[in-house]
Amino acid sequence: MNDLIIRHPNGETEGRDPRDLDPAVLNLPGPLTAIRAKCLDCSAGSPSEVRKCTATSCALWPYRMGTNPRRAGLGSQNPRLNSRFSEKSMSEAA
Ligand code: SF4
Repeated sequence: MNDLIIRHPNGETEGRDPRDLDPAVLNLPGPLTAIRAKCLDCSAGSPSEVRKCTATSCALWPYRMGTNPRRAGLGSQNPRLNSRFSEKSMSEAA
């Protein structure tokens, strides 16, 4: 883990650029798995709190269940969610 952080002589620290690291060193999860992990961290490890999250302005909110609602087969089959998070509605929200 310490290889991921640069410690400067003045005491400052910074995370290494992940693009410069060997992916094997990073033990990379997929993006949806990473988002789910972040949401669980945000919700004190409670899956039910992630499910009930009301922070709809959070960029991770549509993906908090670990699926992509816009991708059939990988995400929700719920047409309501798929239309809510269409390319058009997401660009309008930005
Ligand atoms: S979607 Fe909700 S649970 Fe996930 S990071 Fe955002 S605020 Fe936290």
